[in-house]
Amino acid sequence: MDIKNNLINIEKSIPKDVKLVAVSKYKPIEMLQEAYEAGIRDFGENKVQELQDKYDKFHKDVKWHFIGHLQTNKVKYIVGKVNLIHSLDSVKLLNELEKNYKNKDIIADVLIQINIGREENKYGILEEELISLIEEVEKCSFVKVKGLMAILPKGDEVSNREYFKRMYKIWSDMKAKNFKNITMEILSMGMSNDYKIAIEEGANMVRVGQGIFGKRD
Ligand SMILES: *Cc1c(COP(=O)(O)O)cnc(C)c1O
Repeated sequence: MDIKNNLINIEKSIPKDVKLVAVSKYKPIEMLQEAYEAGIRDFGENKVQELQDKYDKFHKDVKWHFIGHLQTNKVKYIVGKVNLIHSLDSVKLLNELEKNYKNKDIIADVLIQINIGREENKYGILEEELISLIEEVEKCSFVKVKGLMAILPKGDEVSNREYFKRMYKIWSDMKAKNFKNITMEILSMGMSNDYKIAIEEGANMVRVGQGIFGKRD
C-alpha cells in the first residue's frame, strides 16, 4: 500500500479550499507517519482510547478529529486533545462538553451530526431536531458549533448525491441565520467512495480512510 501515492492522487482531485481529514482509525502509527511525511496534519479517529494512545505517541502539531460517537463518560479524556469533534448528537453530550471544557477553560469546536438517512441504528440528530439543539448551544459558553457532519446510508451515486444535496441545503439555510455560538463554516461529508460527489455538492471537509491507508479488516 503506497500511502504517499494515494495521497498525491486524492489531493489532485480535491480543490484547495476543501480540507482532507485522513481517517486513520485501526491503523498503526507507522502508517500515520507516512501520511504525516506526505504533509497530512489532520487525522480522524473514532475511538477515544485509540485517539488517546495516538495522541501520546504521535507528533504534537497534528490536528485530531473525533469522528465517532462520543459517550458522555469519555468526554473528559479528549478535552484539549482534539481540534474538532464531528459528532455532537444530543443535548446530553452538549452539556457534558460544556461542563468539561469549562473546567479546563478552553473552547470545544464541534460539528452537529445529522442522521440524514433517518436510520434507526445510526447516531446523529434528525433534521427537524436541529433548531432545538441549536437553541441549547446558544446557552453555552464553552462550545462553538462550526458546522454540520453526516454519514450517509449505504447507496449508489444517485442516492448519495440526493443526501449530499439535502445536507447542503440544511447547512446553507443555517449559515444564513444568526445564532449565538454558531458559525456554519464547515460541511463535513464524503468518504473514500463518494468524496468527489460530496465536494461537487458542497462539502468543504471530506473524511477519507481506506482510500489513503488501504482496507480495514
Ligand atoms: C471510517 C470513517 C470514515 C472513513 O471511511 P472510509 O470508507 O475508510 O473512507 C469517514 N467518516 C467516519 C465517520 C468514519 O467512521
